[in-house]
Amino acid sequence: MLMSRYDLLVKGGLLVLPYHGEVRADLAVRGGRIVAVGEDLPASDAEEVLDATGKAVMPGAVDAHFHLGIYRDLGVDAAEETRSSLVGGATTVLSYFRTGQHYLNRTGPYEEIFPEVLAAVAGRSYTDYGFHLAPMTVGQIDEIPALVTEHGVTSFKYYMFYKGFDLAANSRDAQAFTMGDEYDLGHLYLIMEKLAAVQAAHPDRRLSLSLHCEQSELMRVFIDRIQRSGRPQNLRAYHEGRPPLTEEVAIAEATTLAGHAGTNVNLLHLSSADAVRAARTARAQHGTDMRLEVTLHHLCLDVDELDARGGLGAKVNPPIRTRADNDYLWERVADGTVDWVASDHACCMEEHKGDELWPARPGFGGTALLYPVLLSEGHRRRGIPLSRIAEAVSANPARAYGLWGRKGGLAVGFDADFTIVDLELEREVTTDMLLSGQDHCPFEGVTVTGWPVATVVGGRLAYTLDKGVIGEPSGTYLHRGR
Ligand SMILES: [Zn+2]
Repeated sequence: MLMSRYDLLVKGGLLVLPYHGEVRADLAVRGGRIVAVGEDLPASDAEEVLDATGKAVMPGAVDAHFHLGIYRDLGVDAAEETRSSLVGGATTVLSYFRTGQHYLNRTGPYEEIFPEVLAAVAGRSYTDYGFHLAPMTVGQIDEIPALVTEHGVTSFKYYMFYKGFDLAANSRDAQAFTMGDEYDLGHLYLIMEKLAAVQAAHPDRRLSLSLHCEQSELMRVFIDRIQRSGRPQNLRAYHEGRPPLTEEVAIAEATTLAGHAGTNVNLLHLSSADAVRAARTARAQHGTDMRLEVTLHHLCLDVDELDARGGLGAKVNPPIRTRADNDYLWERVADGTVDWVASDHACCMEEHKGDELWPARPGFGGTALLYPVLLSEGHRRRGIPLSRIAEAVSANPARAYGLWGRKGGLAVGFDADFTIVDLELEREVTTDMLLSGQDHCPFEGVTVTGWPVATVVGGRLAYTLDKGVIGEPSGTYLHRGR
């Protein structure tokens, strides 16, 4: 029997190449990788052919902000939420994990806990996956060198707003929540110092600290005021209880420390115009490597529209802001100030939202809408070039998190992770079509134009719009830095 040269051939598509532009070419895959890009590659050379005529072929999205297992069993989340990623053309997810309440509801050394996390997800993820870890104890800070070298974890996290204030329980006992040590700017500085030292020993890779920037002492005052005011306790109240000022101050604090320690940082989910302006100023001032992230919900959702519809499904930290903030964020995505867009996907069921604002759990899913929303609202409506879109959801996060060369591009040698998109396909968002375990969706009813019709992970057709998910989960753990 004659062996085919290629396992898979994508014919006639418009390839979207980050940092380059668009070319009409065929793309060939063998052994899970891209092995050829060229004109008129013969179909007879391939085992399987996908016709992409009239469609765009985008590098698979690297959804760099995810929360597998935050509110549900880690294995169930891995299966159902990465399945949802395929619908939106994401082929890699990088998930945050920490010890303390939610997740596994325990603390201890990552040496013990991280292998359990990996075992729970192994064989269940439809996308390739990696983890960012948050050191909640001083002991865990000491584990950073081993996490880098043994487990290939190159990114870590600190939550500015946990200090002294546990909003989940509406109490002031942060330690009951984090199950960790004193969690304050001192702890943050220790993490930064350690990371900078480990970075010096590994100049070949980018080690970074991701920061959730909201200032808890200001939140305490603003939330008290809102709760006493007698006004409706809705999403607008939530936005005003954690206003953009709290982001600005936290950004100033964290980036001042990062500048002194010499640590690379990622400023996560900047939600407001004020936050992005503060981040841009800090980046210019401190000269350290600083990357800016926004989420698709902060780009697209408007707090007053959500309140007019009612419900608390869109409660999230930082809160959903205003239409003016949406517009400002889109401009900064377009001009490249913002490095990447992620979903901050956290599967949170309706029963955990309820009808009371303060006890409602924060977060919701959105991974299935990453490319669709960027293509519809960013490319189609605002004229952002397709290559810039691919940079914002794929290439830039891949570079920041040690995956470039494997993920983020459509070049020979890269993993064959891509999605074929029908830029003209219009669909109204429903909860069901996203294939997530979550039973509601804050984007429900929004009309989006531009949807993946096929998603390929590691050279294998894993999803089509017509058939849904195909085959078993085949995602592998990404040891970063090798
Ligand atoms: Zn998050």
